[in-house]
Parts: sequence; structure tokens; C-alpha cells
Amino acid sequence: MPASKKNPSELRFDPVSKDWVLIATGRARRPEAFRRKEVGQKACPFDDLSNKECPTYALFRGKEAPLPKGSACVPKQWTTIALPNKYPAFAVQKSFETRLVGPYQAADGVGFHEVIVTKSHTKDIPEFSLAQVKELLDMYYARYVALKDEEFVNHISIFKNKGPKAGATIAHPHSQLVATPITDPDIVGSLEGSLRYFEQNKKCIHCEMLSWDRKDKQRIVYENEEYTVVCPFASRVAFEMRIYPQKHVSYFERTTDAQRELLADALLAAMKKLSRALGDPDYNYFLHTAPADGGNYDHYHWHWEILPKTSTWAGFELGSGIEISTIEPEKAAAFLRKQ
Ligand SMILES: [Zn+2]
Ligand SMILES: [Zn+2]
Repeated sequence: MPASKKNPSELRFDPVSKDWVLIATGRARRPEAFRRKEVGQKACPFDDLSNKECPTYALFRGKEAPLPKGSACVPKQWTTIALPNKYPAFAVQKSFETRLVGPYQAADGVGFHEVIVTKSHTKDIPEFSLAQVKELLDMYYARYVALKDEEFVNHISIFKNKGPKAGATIAHPHSQLVATPITDPDIVGSLEGSLRYFEQNKKCIHCEMLSWDRKDKQRIVYENEEYTVVCPFASRVAFEMRIYPQKHVSYFERTTDAQRELLADALLAAMKKLSRALGDPDYNYFLHTAPADGGNYDHYHWHWEILPKTSTWAGFELGSGIEISTIEPEKAAAFLRKQ
């Protein structure tokens, strides 16, 4: 049975790797479109929101900006705004059912897909004030909390792609939020790994790694009263960073306003250092937090992962799944600390 006509995508499950993949079926990209980047500069879609779908939430200088009713639903003044994605990878639907396609499982790509836009076309996190970074995190938090109890939402990804090498197709600084019925394969691995360690040792593996890193100091990039920025011992790419709450917390949505202020401080420090160290590189960052499926994930420890585009996956990485980092994390952290 094919994916339903309205849904823009189909989820397909690989029974061997146990990975779910999403096949965008509704974006109508011709196979030729993959040959090379389409050329031509179009007007920025985020500078004029008047033709856009209505936002889901808006903030103006740290406070909620009420959404006007009717067709002109974009508030006159906003500094950070959440919009439904015009080309969603996942779409709102009334049901979620898996079906069999030969030896595979498949399902419609049900869920929510939003874009989170900050006002300036040119200024991005390294140039933001602390209050602007806090506002961005408050927006992530507000949308996370708003969507986590929706039907079929079992997992929420929040991520930012910056620059073409990181997969961003729009230059205007923006992040994305995807709320899905399935848990992201990367999180599943991370959850299973931390659960196994917890069952064997009655301790959180992330707390153990963090306390070792904080004693060893070599891979620490930045710290404040609540958060530590570290280049992981087993970094997957050069200059990879993670931001961990020092206290064991499994769920990002349990952060307090005061903690988000300190998280903003840590994120700002990390992004400034990265920008200075590598000359404003392309990067991806994302949130890893416990799923929102109502299960107990107290063994998990939420964190941000920041992966600058310092290399491209080639045959070895794609074939073996082993990533090659071209600098020792200890040296990367020392260099970042100096910035
Ligand atoms: Zn713009
Ligand atoms: Zn922990």
C-alpha cells in the first residue's frame, strides 16, 4: 500500500540495522535536481512573513508576542518566531499506523515540523547578546513543552543546520523542530547504551564521563555554575563539542528559567569560540533528550551536541560507520579555550 496521498513522506524501517528512515515523497523533487545545486538567488523567505502560514508562537525581546487573529496573523513586532515548515518532512495527521511492504515496515510521516527563525538575516548566535540566545532557548523550550503531549508525538528533535555544508538551504539563521511518533535512531543507540551502563553500574554513564572530564580538565572548553562544554574523548569530528548539565537531569523540559539563562551563557560561549577558532564554520547542533513517550528514562542525561563541518563523510565513514576525527579532542579543547 502506498503512502497516503496527502502525507508528504513515508517512514521506512530497515529490519537489519533497525533504523527508521524518512523518504520525502511529497516534495516532488525530480531526480535531476540531485545532480547539482539549483542556481539563482531568490528573496529570503524569512524577511517578509506576510505570505507565510500563521506562526505557532512568537517572542519579542524575551516576552511572548500575542498572535493576531485572522489572516494577518504575524505579530508586528517579533524577535524570534516559530512557523510551520512550508516543506514539512512530517505532517499533522489523525492516525499513525505501520504497514508491511514486502519484508519492510513503513508508515506515513506523521508529526510536526516547525522552523524557528530569529529576526536578523545576517546576525547569528556568535553575534547575539546573552538575552537573544536565552530567547532562542526559551522558544525551543516553549515549543517542546507545547508539542510533547500531542498525540503520536513520542520524540522531539531540535536542531540547527548552519551553512550549505551542514545542509542548510536558507541563509537566514534558523533552527528546526521535528516531533515524531518514532524515536530517532541516534537517540535509541544513546538510550540503550546509557541504560546498559546504568543497569550494570547503577550510575549514569554521562555523569561518569563528565566527572572524569572535569577532573582531567584537558577536554573542558568552558564551564559555568550549571553547564560544562566539553570536546568528547571519543569525538566523531574535529572540534565536536557537547554541553552537559552538571547535575543529572534526563529531560530538557525540566530546565528552569534560571538554568536556561546559564545554558544560554554556555551555548553563547561555545558558539563564539567555535566561530573564532575555525572562522565561522558551517555546523549542525542538536538536542539529545529523553523521548516524550511517557516512558521512564531517568538513566538518561540530556545534552546538546555541536558538530562543526570539519570533514565530509567519505567511503570509509559511510561503509564502516567509524568516523575519523582529524585532531585530538584534547588539542581542540585547548585551542577553543584560548578563543
Ligand atoms: Zn532573511
Ligand atoms: Zn547523568
